[in-house]
Amino acid sequence: MLDACQRNINYLRISVTDRCNLRCVYCMPAEGVNHIPHEEILTIEEMETLVQAAAGVGIRKVRLTGGEPLVRKGVVKLIRSVADVETIDDIAITTNGMLLEQLGPQLREAGLRRVNISLDTLNHRRFKEITRVGRLQDVKNGIETALKLGLHPVKLNAVVVRGVNDDEIIDLAKLAVDYPLHMRFIELMPIGQSDSWVKSGFVSAQEVSTAVEAGLGKLQPVNKPTGAGPASYYRIGNAPGTIGFITAISNHFCTACNRLRLTATGSIRPCLYSERELDIKTPLRSGASLLELSRQFVKAAKVKPNRHNMAGGWKDKTKLMSQIGG
Ligand code: SAM
Ligand code: SF4
Repeated sequence: MLDACQRNINYLRISVTDRCNLRCVYCMPAEGVNHIPHEEILTIEEMETLVQAAAGVGIRKVRLTGGEPLVRKGVVKLIRSVADVETIDDIAITTNGMLLEQLGPQLREAGLRRVNISLDTLNHRRFKEITRVGRLQDVKNGIETALKLGLHPVKLNAVVVRGVNDDEIIDLAKLAVDYPLHMRFIELMPIGQSDSWVKSGFVSAQEVSTAVEAGLGKLQPVNKPTGAGPASYYRIGNAPGTIGFITAISNHFCTACNRLRLTATGSIRPCLYSERELDIKTPLRSGASLLELSRQFVKAAKVKPNRHNMAGGWKDKTKLMSQIGG
């Protein structure tokens, strides 16, 4: 489906839960969040119906995110039914990796072929500081499991924050030299919890790439791995993995944006950075047909802004990244 700027909207990111087993400092407040009551969250079956409706108007790629998608009961079933939709040709998950060792085999068997795992540090003590409650070893086991299962590509996401993990840029990048891993550095965005962090903590992709080249050698541009989205990718020498940069702030990629988001509470959000949402849960729960639900996706595409307005700061004070779907 085309939006008003003639962009082909074919990618749906679904926040399958607002809940998470970690409390990353830039994503959630220390005290945690007031969880949305269960009945307001879409059921797995409702998500399955909405994926079918979205596929009917041209969605070809689905990503499950959150919150932490792997804490949602029924996530394996959801993967299986999304994989069963004939016209969906790409299904992925963004996860913190904590439960990947345990759930990886079932997810693979259900049809998952690739995965993005968040990894901001290789230091055990620091991992606990950043995530407040997590164990780095669990994520490492998750990454190993993903590689062993042959999920491909396995992408790692690191948000670089000054004074927090900017001294680990080279160590993180080296993972792509030593293993067939695709290490992506993400610029910190002023969203929810991190709004106030950005002034002091922001590190540009340019600064990260300069540090990587100084430490590891020249970055040579390469073709994007499957499902590469907005990142630009590079390789060092004959390394098995690649290094990518996601420059949401320093060089926005809105002209190529092909996505809609479905929030955990059943709204379609055309742009992460715009408060505007279209309710699809009410028609869904009132018995709307697949065709009527499909039309909501088309409507959402039509009102997708031509670009984000991050420079204006985060205005949606009631929402965190985990509730919209990061
Ligand atoms: N829990 C899963 C995870 O951590 O991968 C999925 C949801 S999380 C919100 C998705 C991604 O968003 C993670 O890679 C996380 O690091 C990133 N993220 C969260 N807050 C961010 C922010 N303010 N700026 C940039 N990336 C952010
Ligand atoms: Fe949870 Fe992911 Fe947010 Fe960390 S970034 S608190 S793992 S949702």
